[in-house]
Amino acid sequence: MKRTLLAVLAHPDDESFGPGGTLARYAAEGTAVHIAIATDGVAGSVVEAYKDKREQLAAVREKELEAAVAVLGGTLHNLGYRDSGYINDPANNHPQAFIQADETEAVGKVVRLIRELQPQVILTHDETGGYFHPDHIMCCKITTAAFHAAGDATQYPDIGPAPFQPKRLFYTTMPNRWVKIMILLMRLRGKDPTRWGRNGDIDMTRVGADPSQITTTIDYRDYWDVKLAASAQHTSQGGGTSFSRMMPGWLQKQLFGRDSFIRAYPLLRNGRREKDLFESAG
Ligand SMILES: [Zn+2]
Repeated sequence: MKRTLLAVLAHPDDESFGPGGTLARYAAEGTAVHIAIATDGVAGSVVEAYKDKREQLAAVREKELEAAVAVLGGTLHNLGYRDSGYINDPANNHPQAFIQADETEAVGKVVRLIRELQPQVILTHDETGGYFHPDHIMCCKITTAAFHAAGDATQYPDIGPAPFQPKRLFYTTMPNRWVKIMILLMRLRGKDPTRWGRNGDIDMTRVGADPSQITTTIDYRDYWDVKLAASAQHTSQGGGTSFSRMMPGWLQKQLFGRDSFIRAYPLLRNGRREKDLFESAG
């Protein structure tokens, strides 16, 4: 059976800035990689050039996303929601905002994709959304529900061709030991790690998982450049360059050229670890 992977992520850029290296590696190795993005990214942080044209931003980000997914070697699907902002952002109150979406309908959209594409492996954000972004948390919630509903003929009986149960569900994460190094580098550079990001609203000290929680590590050092090339397509988001100024590329590749995941279903027992998302999943 052909290996198929479906990543369901919140924003245009999460596929590249997030598990882009892993997605590029699986695509290059022959897996059908499908990338579903929930929102249009209009509430995302914007670089100076786009400050006054937010209304055009959705179209710009769509083009950037299409280009990035092509670089990664994936197939793009849009869930069609409006971006919510970070915690307390007024964008969160917009009736079309992803976090205001009808959950049954949103789960149904992912159920449809699962039944149509028949992926063995599903990836999404973890329950904390990585840095507590409401859209990431919503994405985790609906994708987890869809993972468990897609194979059940009694749920969403009118959606998609036939019930299909994927075998593995993974959450993206980051070991907090790297976060601790980043925090140290920030402090050395005189930056406040509790006010990270372009909007200064991300508390880095709350980001990342304890290494004991991480079940699955994917080495993508051979695809490091592909991830960078995909990230660079997101020009309106700065192309992912803010972090890369902090240390030389070869060192980043060696230190950060692995993605970390928590296998959410089925649970890995006895402290077992794996290096392949498809391990014994066909
Ligand atoms: Zn995001």
